[in-house]
Amino acid sequence: MRIVIVGGGVMGCATALELARRGVKDVTVLERAVPGAEASSAAAGMLAAQIESRDEEELDRFVAAREAYATWSGVLREATGIDIAHRRSGVLSIARSEVEVERLRANVEAQRGHGLRAELLDATKARSIERELTPDLAGAAYYPDEAQVDPPQLLRALVVAIARAGVVIRGGTTVSTLVNEGGRCVGVALGEREVLLADAVVLAAGSWSSLVPGVPAELPKVRPVRGQLVLLEERPPRLGTILFEGHAYVVPRGDGRVICGSTMEDVGHRREVTAAGVHSILGAAFAVAPRLAEAELVRSWCNFRPSVASPEGTPLVGASPLPGLFLATGHHRNGILLAKVTADAVAECILTSASASTARSRSQS
Ligand SMILES: Cc1cc2nc3c(=O)[nH]c(=O)nc-3n(C[C@H](O)[C@H](O)[C@H](O)COP(=O)(O)OP(=O)(O)OC[C@H]3O[C@@H](n4cnc5c(N)ncnc54)[C@H](O)[C@@H]3O)c2cc1C
Repeated sequence: MRIVIVGGGVMGCATALELARRGVKDVTVLERAVPGAEASSAAAGMLAAQIESRDEEELDRFVAAREAYATWSGVLREATGIDIAHRRSGVLSIARSEVEVERLRANVEAQRGHGLRAELLDATKARSIERELTPDLAGAAYYPDEAQVDPPQLLRALVVAIARAGVVIRGGTTVSTLVNEGGRCVGVALGEREVLLADAVVLAAGSWSSLVPGVPAELPKVRPVRGQLVLLEERPPRLGTILFEGHAYVVPRGDGRVICGSTMEDVGHRREVTAAGVHSILGAAFAVAPRLAEAELVRSWCNFRPSVASPEGTPLVGASPLPGLFLATGHHRNGILLAKVTADAVAECILTSASASTARSRSQS
């Protein structure tokens, strides 16, 4: 069975690894630039299941995804020797007013009702967990099981793991169109001259997924939502806990590096870090952890979250309306969190549909 994957971000690479692990021998990842070139290496790396989920169904799915990392990080280390820096650094979500405290209280109670660890803290208790936290707060919710990984390390580990598992990785290779024969996706074209035939094609092109020619028109569009990040370095390292306020966050890596984010911008694929973006990110970071103003500004960057333009914004995962084409895209703010569970679901879907069609052709012969 030959499987071709369009895009070498976390979705493409994790899916390739899962297919290889399940015994598929002929898997090729086609990547326009280099694997991990885009959103996947640019992410902050939070596995913030309890903070990011919007309803109970998402909460269960996100928590399962977060927990999958405990085993997956060990599997990747064993296969590659690369540590993806998986840590349960916990999250403190900050309230400035009594109204916000009540909102956090409701969230904490709902999560505890689900059997998850969550606590509502007053300012003194919150500051005993994170001494760098501003004293100017009304309270905070603490989620001790929230975690993080280092995305560039994750992508390095995935690339080494898939190469060792026999997956072919073709960098610098742009898919110019999906090839449709008789209403079935039978492969991809690479420019004018080369066609790669495949039993299954996986669309994992991130925020460019809707721009790949041949993608069925009836699929919801995947559009880019730009996010900017700023890397600071504290010497000596002081912060230990991820801090959240609204859309602003501060993610300490534990070694002095602190990722501060982020913006949510509808500007297409404009690759710019803006003065206003950096200004708002740093302003929000200093408001939650004032001594960050003394840290060194190391660098800033931006990239594009793949966001599904439907009312629910649910990621596109599994079978598509075009037989032969499978989807692993549209994970918006949570693609790192959801990578392993998405890879499992997509691999399962491809292999189940392959065995169903083998059974069909046997019964017809
Ligand atoms: C600023 C920011 C912060 C984030 N923080 C977090 C976080 O803390 N936690 C979290 O879980 N998620 C986070 N995310 C979201 C996460 O990064 C994404 O959801 C995830 O990386 C998407 O992975 P992907 O593989 O779908 O896309 P990408 O990583 O963008 O990969 C898609 C790949 O497809 C390639 N490609 C495109 N078109 C073609 C073509 N025609 N032919 C060949 N290759 C092609 C591209 O070059 C690219 O490498 C963040 C995102 C941003 C931008």
